[in-house]
Amino acid sequence: MSDISDDHHLIIPEFSVRFWGVRGSTPAPGPHTVQYGGNTPCVEIRAGGRVILIDCGSGIRAFGRSMYMAPGNQLDLLMSHYHWDHVQGFPFFGPAYHAENKIQVYGPPVSTGGSIEDVFKNQMVPPYFPVPMDIMKAEMHFDEVKPNDQFQIGPVDILAKQLNHSDITLGYRITWKGISVAYVSDTEHIAGKLDSNVLALAEGADVLIYDAMYTDKEYLDPKAPKAGWGHSTWQEGLKIAEHANVGRFVSFHHDPIHNDRFLRQVEKEMQLQNANACVAYEGLVIGLM
Ligand SMILES: [Zn+2]
Ligand SMILES: [Zn+2]
Repeated sequence: MSDISDDHHLIIPEFSVRFWGVRGSTPAPGPHTVQYGGNTPCVEIRAGGRVILIDCGSGIRAFGRSMYMAPGNQLDLLMSHYHWDHVQGFPFFGPAYHAENKIQVYGPPVSTGGSIEDVFKNQMVPPYFPVPMDIMKAEMHFDEVKPNDQFQIGPVDILAKQLNHSDITLGYRITWKGISVAYVSDTEHIAGKLDSNVLALAEGADVLIYDAMYTDKEYLDPKAPKAGWGHSTWQEGLKIAEHANVGRFVSFHHDPIHNDRFLRQVEKEMQLQNANACVAYEGLVIGLM
């Protein structure tokens, strides 16, 4: 593993992970979240000459602007699931409006039936949105991914596993040249044991991006317990990371009520347990090759 940087002007590594949105449930902009960011999930992985995005929360808008002037791009978008915080950025994804671009979307089956394309289309209809998705001129394809599927995006290997969440949700392991990144959001840990699907994604991974929406204290709070809400804690994530020999643990999908001060404290406590752990923030780039 090489360096971590948020300098946008460095030479882009051959294999990198960049965070455009790290917040769960709903965007949380404002003066108390400027350090870690308020946008909902969007992670960019560059590997093997491909640009692979995971989820299209509100963070995808800024990603789109960063490549707006470079048409002709092939983009692959892996969807974990279709909860609002993971799809809401798509109508604002500039490159989708340009005919030169090609967008391949992969996602789990839709729990209510119907097509993945309809999930995207149906959030761009009155009274929610002024223009229909047909206005987007990029060439788009939508393919279903089932739990345990393995496939390739160019030279990059993808493995999908079902997560423990309130809708059909997939975690992904992205591997190129023996380097792996595991994306595990949204998921709830299983009390008293480690989730074998999450372990399969995380085993020996260089980076584990994990749904650490809560702390153990919040999760177990007798007055307002969060068990059954479909999310996990950084303490449970570290157990997976340590058991699976993960290189770097990245806590992700922050609760919108967790302000910068809270997340700084979380990071401190996490790093006392695991020096290679960090809290994801918008603009974080992890170079892997
Ligand atoms: Zn979410
Ligand atoms: Zn969700």
